[in-house]
Amino acid sequence: MRVRGRLSVVTVGCKANFADSAAILAHAARAGFEVVGDGAPADVLVINSCTVTRRADRDCRALARRLRRAHPGAVLVMTGCFAETTPEARASVPEVDHWLGIREPSGLPLLLRFLAGNAPPPDEELSDFAAARLLGHSRVFLKVQDGCDAACAYCVVPKARGAGRSLPRREVVERAVRAERDGAREIVLTGIHTGRYGADRGDRDGLAGLVEGLLQATSGCRFRLGSVEPLEISSALVSLLSKEGRLCPHLHVPLQGGSDRVLLRMRRPYTARQYRERLDLLAAEVPGIRLGADVIAGFPGETRDDFEETMRLIRDTPLSYLHAFPYSPRAGTESAGWTDDVSAAEKTRRVARLREADVAMRREYLGKQVGKTLVAAASARDPKTGEMRGTTENYAEAVFRAAIAARGDLIPVRIDAVRGEHLEGTAV
Ligand code: SF4
Repeated sequence: MRVRGRLSVVTVGCKANFADSAAILAHAARAGFEVVGDGAPADVLVINSCTVTRRADRDCRALARRLRRAHPGAVLVMTGCFAETTPEARASVPEVDHWLGIREPSGLPLLLRFLAGNAPPPDEELSDFAAARLLGHSRVFLKVQDGCDAACAYCVVPKARGAGRSLPRREVVERAVRAERDGAREIVLTGIHTGRYGADRGDRDGLAGLVEGLLQATSGCRFRLGSVEPLEISSALVSLLSKEGRLCPHLHVPLQGGSDRVLLRMRRPYTARQYRERLDLLAAEVPGIRLGADVIAGFPGETRDDFEETMRLIRDTPLSYLHAFPYSPRAGTESAGWTDDVSAAEKTRRVARLREADVAMRREYLGKQVGKTLVAAASARDPKTGEMRGTTENYAEAVFRAAIAARGDLIPVRIDAVRGEHLEGTAV
């Protein structure tokens, strides 16, 4: 099959996938495609997929069906973590024309060149900033690391993404400098196991060293860290978060469970107490920092008492939001074969309790922002109300009145009120 023309990418899943999608667009432009935004008519559609939960699998299958119906003549390519799945799972999505595993780095350029036929090469490379714009993002997602060497009992990601590997520090810095020069005002450092940045290269300064290098090499953009495992929050990282105004005071620290018994069974390398101590330290050293966590409800063998321990830990820890998921067994993982699964009804009940706690925590945190001036990265203007939307340095969504603001600009906003899940304010 030979096609050429327009290509777009639809992304499911985490921030690392957003960064991969930007890279796919850059490869596509190099192969001669006209890259277009999600939703535009396209000749080739790439789904950058996720398989972290059973629900993510379902979403990817449904997306393939929907895109096939909407674009009957387009070539449909599936890449990302779901594409690393079993042959049976691939067979359940007959709408897909080409599967592309994410562990074959040369596969993507080859496939794209093949699909592009004899399209002429572009005049200019597609930069990280331009790709982010095409994906509808106001921020650049820069993937500094991929893969994972941990072996959490429930997690299929190391199987899908392979061993941990980091981008050389010089390359990360060059890309950030270029993104800043092109106009990026916020760069999000993503990865699968970002806290292990540099470990595979014998880089002893790790993530903190990388952040320091980035801050030295740039001057106008701010940086945000994605997810960092609790034991990988080094004192150097805490110190950077407390002193550097251009490093956003926000960190996602996966918890997964709050009972030591369950954490041990999950093969998570910390205790509930260690988790709490790390977060207490962050809250003390970085006043106002926004801290969030993932929590799995109903891991095999999780008793009601275990779950209550998780709820207590959450109450006692300076978290301000949660991502709660019901446990679902993933083929090929250690816990998939365990038979002491928690009933579906009980998982639903526990997730509902976690989500209630999440709503209360968010409300409390947002309430404390009223009266402050925060700096929002503007994302879009509401055509009906004329109000701007944006994400503040402490990861709150803000809606604000601003006469002049373009997507991506950093706008100081005085916070006047909380409206639902958002902050409301006025540009100052
Ligand atoms: S640290 Fe654990 S949960 Fe995170 S990607 Fe690695 S194996 Fe999965």
